[in-house]
Amino acid sequence: MSSRDTHSESTSLSNVVEIHRLSRRFGVKAALDDISLNIPRGGVFGLIGGNGAGKTTLLKHILGMHYAQSGSVQVFGLDPVANPVGVLGRIGYMSENRDLPNWMKVGDLLRYTQAFFPTWDAAYASELCDMFDLDRKSRVHHLSRGQRARACLLVALAHRPELLVLDEPSSGLDPVVRRDILGAVIRTIADEGRTVLFSSHLLDEVERVADRIAVIHQGKVQLTGSMDSIKDSYHRVTVRFESPRDQAPSLVGSISHSGGGNEWCYVCCGQREQVHRAVEAIGASVVEDSNLTLDDIFVASISQN
Ligand code: ATP
Repeated sequence: MSSRDTHSESTSLSNVVEIHRLSRRFGVKAALDDISLNIPRGGVFGLIGGNGAGKTTLLKHILGMHYAQSGSVQVFGLDPVANPVGVLGRIGYMSENRDLPNWMKVGDLLRYTQAFFPTWDAAYASELCDMFDLDRKSRVHHLSRGQRARACLLVALAHRPELLVLDEPSSGLDPVVRRDILGAVIRTIADEGRTVLFSSHLLDEVERVADRIAVIHQGKVQLTGSMDSIKDSYHRVTVRFESPRDQAPSLVGSISHSGGGNEWCYVCCGQREQVHRAVEAIGASVVEDSNLTLDDIFVASISQN
């Protein structure tokens, strides 16, 4: 077995996507800066980042729409630029711009897309068409923004892809579809052992559905891991000193602080016991310790630079 075969096999066993030291520039702008990231098989992976962080550029590398200027991208153990057929047939993709052929009717769109995917499930496509309340006779051009997003999601799902890539899936979808349908679809795919990779600004949504996350900031991976381990490693601790302090004493692992006098509040990164030991070491006692929301963790992680 060649080293490449060995690599492909190990990827198929564990990670659907392996990104190693990927960088990408557009002129002087570094959109991705030395990114390394693995997306394990099965489960829901949420990509979080502000506007212009590099999320779409990263997803486009996974889809082979951009080649790696430096570093490497492997999807199912293959280079998506060199093997578009081997990779794209196994991916369902909902683009940020909801690109669809405008001149087609919804029914034509389903027949057209079916031709590209041997695994297309016509019964499931019909079911989704009803669930999304889409009229097959409507022309794509005449669909509302939300209907267009639903049509895009439908064609991404109906061939039951091994990897579903959704770029800002909630954008344009109404709250019912977003919460009930999208959430259920994403969970079902993960429960079947397939993988969902999605980018989002909506951190409460990511918190609800993702098993693992990566925070991208200015083209770098700022934080990645399982949702549970990340939530366990950020704390807000309120501490009390015997005598008032003019300034917050520096605390190992602290990212920010507020308060004054005897009582100060620190946002910290580290295991709970470590944080408590650090508090003792500065001569204070813990009054309260709570976990952060994903929103707070996002803000804390991008201010850790
Ligand atoms: P948003 O959430 O706003 O969609 P994003 O995280 O998806 O943002 P990207 O679209 O990946 O961000 O863009 C990352 C950076 O790369 C931005 O500064 C963007 O302007 C730049 N960029 C992306 N594509 C191109 C391109 N084709 N040409 C020039 N610059 C680009």
